[in-house]
Amino acid sequence: MSFPIRPFHRPRPRDVLHCDGAPLPKLAKRWGTPLYVYSADAIVERFGLFDNALAGLPHLVCYAVKANSSLAILKLLSRCGAGFDIVSGGELERVLAADKRAAGRVVFSGVGKTAPEIDLALRAGIRVFNVESEGELELLSERAGKRGVVAPFALRVNPDVFADTHPYISTGLREHKFGIAIEGAPALYRRARQGRRAAKRLRAVGVSVHIGSQIRDPAPFGAAATRVAALVRALRADGEPTLRSIDLGGGLGIEYEGAPWDPQERVAAYAAAVRAGLGGLDGVELLLEPGRFLVAEAGALLTEVLYTKQNGTKRFVITDAGMNDLIRPALYSAHHGIEPVAPGRKQKETVDVVGTVCESGDFFARDRQLPRVEPGDLLAILDAGAYGASLSSTYNTRPRVAEVLVEGAKARLVRRRDRVRDLLAPERV
Ligand SMILES: *Cc1c(COP(=O)(O)O)cnc(C)c1O
Repeated sequence: MSFPIRPFHRPRPRDVLHCDGAPLPKLAKRWGTPLYVYSADAIVERFGLFDNALAGLPHLVCYAVKANSSLAILKLLSRCGAGFDIVSGGELERVLAADKRAAGRVVFSGVGKTAPEIDLALRAGIRVFNVESEGELELLSERAGKRGVVAPFALRVNPDVFADTHPYISTGLREHKFGIAIEGAPALYRRARQGRRAAKRLRAVGVSVHIGSQIRDPAPFGAAATRVAALVRALRADGEPTLRSIDLGGGLGIEYEGAPWDPQERVAAYAAAVRAGLGGLDGVELLLEPGRFLVAEAGALLTEVLYTKQNGTKRFVITDAGMNDLIRPALYSAHHGIEPVAPGRKQKETVDVVGTVCESGDFFARDRQLPRVEPGDLLAILDAGAYGASLSSTYNTRPRVAEVLVEGAKARLVRRRDRVRDLLAPERV
């Protein structure tokens, strides 16, 4: 296959780990550690997989900004023609900062949109509001009325589809906080269409779902598509004239551990399940909101080993990164591959790789077999491009880390490291 499934690689077995053409020790030397490193090529290629697999179906791939909201990555994807799935007013400002002409490609999701956020999005002229409750629909109608505009909306329905993933990131069941029950949707669309004021202020342009995250089996996506397509047919029969999009959300998963796998195959299987689910429904544009699948493997967190020590039977490798920089292991017991940047020493040992934060949950790996590492060695924590930097915090007053984008063999700083003074600036004594 021609695409770099693994942007983090050794050109030859005895080489240091590279990101595409850039040797990681060089980046660490120039910008320090911890450091997020992203491959632009890997992101562009992933985006292309969706575009190819959906050829022939009218579609727009709306990157889920929350997976990694770096302006440089938003700009890169915007240049590929991506749309954007946002979940806050702040994310809308980010998208517009990356590309001021992107508003027409923005879909706005989220259960708790505030009036100022809705106003901001109405002013920008986004493509569609994915509305998650009756109250939100009322507020949207009111805010659109105030501005004298018509708000395009889709109801986010809850298809009651089970997706086998971590409970914190499963969203498609009736008991979850997201969306509205699919059975209740027709009545709400009717109210928006027939309400005296609502009819002038709201335009139903589609239906949306999002069933969860890190879902590797294409079947639940197909099931969700089937249910949404049935809803669209019912709504059309009910006299809904303007529905033109089906948003199937994001959630396609990657492999964080195990044998090599083929992302192209996975996207193809996903697209096939979705096509089958839609069952030839015509006159709709398909919107997709992948986040993780586009950026996870394109990124690594580069960190330096500060200390190693033996406590009882356990050997610890203490890095200069912490759970505030990458919280997925602490939050979801998530697995991340970890590779020494230098070519492996022969001797292996079983270690816990831990961070510096004062929490026992601050670990990157437990009981992991790694080549022996020493203080001063660099480690790459792999598959950290999604929900890494964007979920980071300044807990323990740790400055947020710098981020670097690699384009071919060239690397550039796309976010400088916080200074402690940046953290203190908003505070008053
Ligand atoms: C988080 C989220 C996504 C992206 O999920 P991934 O698993 O990163 O693809 C898409 N749509 C909505 C509404 C989301 O909340």
